[in-house]
Parts: sequence; structure tokens; C-alpha cells
Amino acid sequence: MTRIIAALLYFVSAGLPAQNLPPPLEHVIEIALTPDSGEIRVSDRVTFSGRDEYRFRLAPWLSIDRLALNGVAADLGNSGNDYVLRLPDKGRHVLEFMLRGSIPARSGGDAAASGQYASSGSDGVYLPGWEAWIAHDDEEPVRFRMRVTVPASQRAVATGKLVDEKVGDQTYSATFELAQPGETPSLFAGPYRTSERLSDGLRLRTYFHAELDTLAEPYLDAAEAYIRRFRAEIGDYPYADFHVISAPIPVGLGFPNLTYVGRQVIPLPFMRTRSLAHEVLHNWWGNGVAVDYASGNWAEGLTTYMADYALERDKGEAEARSMRVKWLRDYAALPAQRDQPVRAFRSKQHQASQVIGYNKVAFIFHMLSIEIGQAAFDAGLRRFWSEHRFRTAAWQDLQAAFEQSAGRELGWFFEQWLDRRGAPRLSLGAHRIEQLENGFRTSIEILQPVAGYRFRLPVRLIMPSGFERHEITVSETLTTVEWITDDRPESIHFDPESDVFRLLQQDETPPIIRDITLNPTTSVVIGSADVDFASIARSLVAGIMDVEPRLAQLADVENSSGPLLLITTSDHVGELLVRLGLRPPPELSQVAHTAAAWTARRANGVPLLVVSADNAAGLRALLRPLPHYGGQSYVLFDGGRAQSRGIWPVARGALFRHLSGG
Ligand SMILES: [Zn+2]
Repeated sequence: MTRIIAALLYFVSAGLPAQNLPPPLEHVIEIALTPDSGEIRVSDRVTFSGRDEYRFRLAPWLSIDRLALNGVAADLGNSGNDYVLRLPDKGRHVLEFMLRGSIPARSGGDAAASGQYASSGSDGVYLPGWEAWIAHDDEEPVRFRMRVTVPASQRAVATGKLVDEKVGDQTYSATFELAQPGETPSLFAGPYRTSERLSDGLRLRTYFHAELDTLAEPYLDAAEAYIRRFRAEIGDYPYADFHVISAPIPVGLGFPNLTYVGRQVIPLPFMRTRSLAHEVLHNWWGNGVAVDYASGNWAEGLTTYMADYALERDKGEAEARSMRVKWLRDYAALPAQRDQPVRAFRSKQHQASQVIGYNKVAFIFHMLSIEIGQAAFDAGLRRFWSEHRFRTAAWQDLQAAFEQSAGRELGWFFEQWLDRRGAPRLSLGAHRIEQLENGFRTSIEILQPVAGYRFRLPVRLIMPSGFERHEITVSETLTTVEWITDDRPESIHFDPESDVFRLLQQDETPPIIRDITLNPTTSVVIGSADVDFASIARSLVAGIMDVEPRLAQLADVENSSGPLLLITTSDHVGELLVRLGLRPPPELSQVAHTAAAWTARRANGVPLLVVSADNAAGLRALLRPLPHYGGQSYVLFDGGRAQSRGIWPVARGALFRHLSGG
């Protein structure tokens, strides 16, 4: 009871008007689950007050065996899966549901594999809260106490705090509790072995399939380290438990106080490092502080910045810079018509939205840390956390927290980076070196054709004796800067560490696969008469193109000016390239391969992607791996294995200038 009072006080002290906020719903749930058959029985007692109707959804595979309102059988109005129960008054009521159904068996189809829907099988049951497997309206926060019973060979685990468990001869049961109002429960079960560690008052667990036994300890080590890291950076971990659960489907999903990860993915090194850090951090950003989606999703970018990017920065400045350059490179591949303002990003629907919602946002946090300084940045994050924990927050709340910690107004910063589509473009204008009595005066113009961006621009002035670092502020379309130095400067490099989010120029951006696959104007040519080969080629196109593909004949595109994807057999590639006025790059002949994917620019600068394979089998082997190499300029395959890959070498870029010659 103390918990409930504390929670109510919290909301009152948060300043929300009481009349708009009926007390949270209380669910007391009993589940009996048989994973082999997917049979489930749900008994759910819901207590609430302050409302004149109870609206809820219910998964289509569940039926209501019995429903009682205050102990008396009740009638329902419903349309489809949405139900409304009218209540006699706004007083306190108790609804009792008995539900029964059979969770759809996993068929291996795309829908089940994506983790969007509930699924069952002897290797695991997956019941995400959004599937409405208790009678509930998504929008409303709940408190719950839930006991789950499964056969003794299985283990069940859910969101919420694990408060009790019993291993019997026939059954295993566990009870979970959510005291602070939050999401409806998500439930997972399977033939799991559990490993546990108690760490700083938290319970860390793995629920793994048997083949993953030896990975349990390394995962507990990693989870413990990440939780400690983020707690030190932000504030206390907001839950009592953290679990890593092995999934029979190929997903990597974050839920409050747990992550659900494909059993095939768990052994991969990136999962225990970067991906786990990302999922652990979502307990603060996204779950601990929920996203006000209507005004844009800030949580993915902040999580990318503090987890994925921070781990690269731990390795060194060069690695951090590479990640920033990769983000800029991906952004340059995004066609203007697929760009969107940051505030319009809600969730990752396709790769194009990831370029904005994850990468651009993470880059913006990098620039903010430079703009206000690391100390103010860190203090702003801690302030944001302590003010919005267990509440919903918007971009403007983040802005307010950083303004407080920096002691100044930051509206200009957030507006230019969040509300505008696009990015600054920079180039260098005329320069001049003047010999003075004892030294040299160097002046140079910085051109910014897209008006209205203001940012700090680091500069490196390179002299025979070494270099000087400077920083200037650019806000006009033409900025002229000058320096006086003892030695004559040899060259000058603006933004040498890629600290500014800007649109890279063509000579800074060797073509990558994503240039072609993100572009809705790309034409696809399948240059093979072999029926098998052509059919696999069409599957490959569906897998790698992020947009609806436009099929064409080579004759149609020979003289066209748009981006092109050409898929053909290795013995034909030479002659087709001749028709396009191109030759295969020399890198291709240096490594033996059965298939290759490589990019080039056509004479007019437009990118081209060529995929060639020795035969249909060689092409088929690319179906799985190739979609993962969008950031590369070329990949050479031996069967399904990438033998060699990389980005074509790049010029120093538009912001580097040799100054010799005065
Ligand atoms: Zn995420």
C-alpha cells in the first residue's frame, strides 16, 4: 500500500492537474501457459475508479470466457478487437476477465520473425504487451501483479520486478510486479536455463537456450558493466531487474528491464558489446523516460550517442571520428526527397529514417557537447533524468534541461538542427597570404550557400613547424577569417575531425551501396537471360532496395542520367559495362570471388551499383549477407562470406586547401 501512495504523491507533486488523471489501473493477473501448444488461460482482475467507461483491445486469438463487473456478469459492446464497457458511475469498480486462447504457432513467416506479433512454439513463447493479451487500452499506464505458471521444463519471465518464484515437480511459477505505473506486461517463456547475479541491489539474469550456456557469465559481466557505466553518467537504474532473454526469432528488442535477442545473434560479438549497451541504455532513455512521440523521438539518437558512439570513442578519437564520417556518408546518400526534419522522426521504418532518427540526432548531441562543453552537457542529462524519470518527455524538455545546465538560451541550436530539413553545405572561396614585417597574414573565405546555420568550425593551420588549432563561428553565407603567424602556412583544413553535421561534397564521398539502394529514382537492370538467375536477382533487389524498385532494360538506361543497379553474370559484366562507358575496378581482380557488389560513378557523377555472380548459386548466396553492407563501396564474396570489402579512397575534401603560391 505504501507503494501506491508514494506513486500518487509523485504524480501530484509533478504538477499534473488531478482531474485529468484518473488513478492508474491495477491489474492482478494469473496466467497458465503451455508453450508446446500455445494454450493460454488468463485471469485478470482490474480495479479502477474515476471513469464512466472501460475501453480495451483484445488479441484476435483470445476469447472472453467470463466477464464480471463488481461480481455480476457483464455485457459488452464491441467492434472488431475494440471493446467498450459502459459503467454505472465513476466510482471504484472491479472487472474480472477469464480469457482463453491459443497463441499463434510460429510459422517462420516474416511477420512472426519481425517480432511484431505474439508467437508460440516449444522453443519459446513471445507475448509483447502491445498485442493486447490482457484486456487493456494501449495508451493507459498500468500497475500490475502477475503470476505465470508454465510446465516445470520451462521458465517464464516478464517485464516488472520478479518478486517470487517456485519450482515444483510439475510446474514452474513466477510473480512479477510493476509498482510504478508503466506499460502493460510483456511475457516470455521457453526451455530456458537461468543464470543470476546480484549486483548493487539489482538482479541480473540470463534466460538462455541450452546451447548458450557458456555465454551466460560473459553476458552478466557485460550487462553489469554497462549498468554501472550509465548509472554513473545519468543516475540510478530505474528498475529492480535486468534480464537478457534468448528469442527463437531473429530480433533484438528492448522492453522495460529486459532485452529479447535472437538465439542466433547472442553469440555474435557485436551483440554483447554495442547492441547490449544500446538495449541497457534504453532503460533510461525510452523506458525510464518515455518518448512523447507526437513531438518526435529523441530517445534513439540519444541512446546511439551515449552507447554505440561512446563505445567507439572509448577505443580512441580516430574510431569516434570514423563513426561520425560514416553518419555523414550515409546522410550524403539520402536523396533530398527522403530527408525529413529530426522532429518528424518517430521510429525506424526503413533505413532512410535511421539516417535521421539515430545518426543525425546522435551527431547533434556530439555538436551540443562541443557547443556547451562536456560538463554542462553531462549535467544537463542528469537534470533531464531526475526531472522526467517515469514520465513522458519531449525534445523541448531536453532543451530546457541543457539551457539550465549551460546557463543560456539554446533555442537557435535546437531549431536549426531539429526543425530544418537538410544540412549546411560548406566550401572555400578565395584565399590570400600577405608577408608582413615579421610574419604572415593569411585570409580565406568560407562559403555557406544554405543560409541561416550557425556553428563552431574548427580549423587547422598547417605550417612547416607544425600546426595551430583555431575555432571560428560561422553564421553568414560568406565568412572571411584571417590569422597572423610567424611561419608561412602551407595548407589549411577546416573541420579536420568532422565535428560539424554538414552535407559532404562529391569529392568527399566515394560512392557506397546505399547511394543506390536508398534512391527512389534508381533503375534496376537484370542483365541475364537465365530464368533462375533472373528470379534470384529479383529477390535480391527486393532485399537490398529500401524503396520500390523500378525495373528497366539496359537499352533504356544506357543514355539516362539516373542512378542504376545492374545485376548480371560475371561473364557478361564486361560487355555491359562497356555499353555504359565503364570498366571494372582493378580491386576486383586482386581477390578470388564467386560474386561481387561494387559501386562507381557514371560520367555525370551519378552512382551505379554492379552486382555480378558466377552463376545462380553464387547470386543466391548474397541474399542474406548483401543487405548488411550498405555502407561499403565494394564487397567481394566467396559463397555467402565477404572476403574483402571497403570504401573507395577519398580526396581530402572541399574544406582542405593548399596555400602554396600565395
Ligand atoms: Zn534503440
